[in-house]
Amino acid sequence: PLRIGVLALQGAFREHCRLLDSLGAAVREVRLPADLAGLNGLILPGGESTTMARLLSEYALWEPIRDFHTSGRAIWGTCAGAILLAREVQGAPPQFGGRQQSLGLLDTTVQRNAFGRQINSFAAPLTVQGLDLPFPAVFIRAPAFSGAGADVTVLAEWDGQAVMLRQGRILATAFHPELSGDARIHKLFIEMAQEAQAANT
Ligand code: GLN
Repeated sequence: PLRIGVLALQGAFREHCRLLDSLGAAVREVRLPADLAGLNGLILPGGESTTMARLLSEYALWEPIRDFHTSGRAIWGTCAGAILLAREVQGAPPQFGGRQQSLGLLDTTVQRNAFGRQINSFAAPLTVQGLDLPFPAVFIRAPAFSGAGADVTVLAEWDGQAVMLRQGRILATAFHPELSGDARIHKLFIEMAQEAQAANT
C-alpha cells in the first residue's frame, strides 16, 4: 500500500493525517529518522519554521530527510514546511542573525510572513495550474516564493507572488490545504508519491 508520513514534531500535522486517511493512504506520524523507512512520501506541515528547525536538529532528521529526497521519494511542505524546503530563507528573526537553517531541496528563495502578520491571515480562491476550479486557500502568516530555479514550476500565485511550486518530486504550498476541507492537493501529492513508488519498485 501507499504509505505517507507526516512530520509530527510541531504544527498542523493531525489535519494532514486525517485527510490522507480519508483518501485511503496508510499514514504514519514521523518523529524519528527510523520512521521514514518504507514511506513513499513525506509531508512537512505548517507551524513555526524556526521551532521546527530546532526540533529537526534535536531529532537528527536533517540528513535523513535529504536522503529521503535523494532516494526519489516525494516531499510536500506546507507553509512552515515549505520554508524548511527552500534553498534560501529570508525574514528570519534577528535572534537568528537573520539566518535560518533549511533543507535546501527546493530551488527558490522563500520570504517568511510575506503577507503580513497573524492578523492578516486570510482565505482566498486560488487559481491552481491543473485544477478546474479555484482552490479555497487558507493563508496563515504565509510565506511567498521568489526566484524559482529552472526546474521549478509555479503552480499558483496570489497578489503577484508565487505561493505554490513544484520541482520534480517536491511540492510546496505557502498556504494550508489541510484546513480547507478540499482534498484536491492531497490527491495530487498522493499521485506524486505513487509515481515515486512505481519508480522505486
Ligand atoms: N510564519 C510561519 C513561519 O515562518 C509559518 C506559518 C505557518 O506555517 N502557518 O514559520
